[in-house]
Amino acid sequence: MTDAVREEIEGVDVVRYADLDPTVDVRAIAGVRIYDVGQGDAICVLDHEGKPFLQIDYGGKFGHPFRARDAAARRMPLDGVRLMMLTHWDEDHWCSAAKNKATLDLPWLVPRQRTSPRAARFSATVRGIHCIPESDVHTSIAFEAVNRDCILFEKIDPMPAANQIEDCNRTGVAFAIVNRNKEAILLPGDAPYDKVKLFGTLQANGVKLRAIVAFHHGSRKHWTQATRAHLRAWKGAAGTRCRIFSYGEGNTYDHPTRGNYDGLRGVWTTLETPDLRMAGRHHVDILF
Ligand SMILES: [Zn+2]
Repeated sequence: MTDAVREEIEGVDVVRYADLDPTVDVRAIAGVRIYDVGQGDAICVLDHEGKPFLQIDYGGKFGHPFRARDAAARRMPLDGVRLMMLTHWDEDHWCSAAKNKATLDLPWLVPRQRTSPRAARFSATVRGIHCIPESDVHTSIAFEAVNRDCILFEKIDPMPAANQIEDCNRTGVAFAIVNRNKEAILLPGDAPYDKVKLFGTLQANGVKLRAIVAFHHGSRKHWTQATRAHLRAWKGAAGTRCRIFSYGEGNTYDHPTRGNYDGLRGVWTTLETPDLRMAGRHHVDILF
């Protein structure tokens, strides 16, 4: 994350988001699927038939389950996926893409960041890679299904000057999947919730929390009083809410710090990806 050498990822700015819109003919959004990738994230968004159509991150670092050559492709299939997006360029959020060449045939929409040379080299191999223009930082962009369920995303901060070390967690893209009943599944990547303008707007507009995929896998990093206050004040959706921690078994890096999530309103279930593996499962779905 703080490599001394940083390089800018390769990609042209997107001209029209509509050209990459993965929701064309998607009648409704059923929810999201969270894959067990060990340390890191890989999440896909499910259509009205429960089929993936958008992939958000394709990571898996420490404790990943991809031993066999084709394991990433088998466990995280991309049939029907129309677009790859990344929350940010830290390795645990993209590195399994290098193990599945099918990712290279898809269009990508990513944040422009100055990151590890390895990530920059990989980005140069993706032919259809597009960056969110820096002029769109702090702007919420929507891909909308036929019934108006939507995927909202926002690049939360600009790329810093070239002589500064970029913390990719703080300059990446955060997502919210919001259904027409005004319930949200928050996918912040590793961005602190209170730094995401979009999340504040949703909360102010009365959108209720349905689920959270814990930022920075629940660790202490970037956790502030403002983050705690922001989440505690947010009303939950009806029924049981879900929080998910995605990390590698036996971690020593304090992911998750589950106590951070104590005190949230309402009734929550907690899922941790190592438990999925113990149960012989590759993923868990959160449906609205
Ligand atoms: Zn991460």
